Amino acid sequence: MQQFPCPFCGLRNETEFHFAFEAGHPRPEPAKDVSDAEWAKYLYLHKAPKGKSSEIWLHLTCHEYFILHRDTVTREVLSCDVLPGAEA
Ligand SMILES: [Zn+2]
Repeated sequence: MQQFPCPFCGLRNETEFHFAFEAGHPRPEPAKDVSDAEWAKYLYLHKAPKGKSSEIWLHLTCHEYFILHRDTVTREVLSCDVLPGAEA
């Protein structure tokens, strides 16, 4: 089983985590002005890069979101970062 590093809890089994979103994919704002096509693009069209990737993950145990940098081909975890505004 693969392990992921939570910046708040340390290394934990991958089953404790949930993928949230690709990093650098901001939600369109303001919501009242966003068209259906823009929402669909935001929700369903992702880059899904092959290789080095930065993703937002949720650690289900501590309920904290963080950035996980990993290689999607080799599954190597490169590093993790606390989201701006959160403190470890
Ligand atoms: Zn955690």
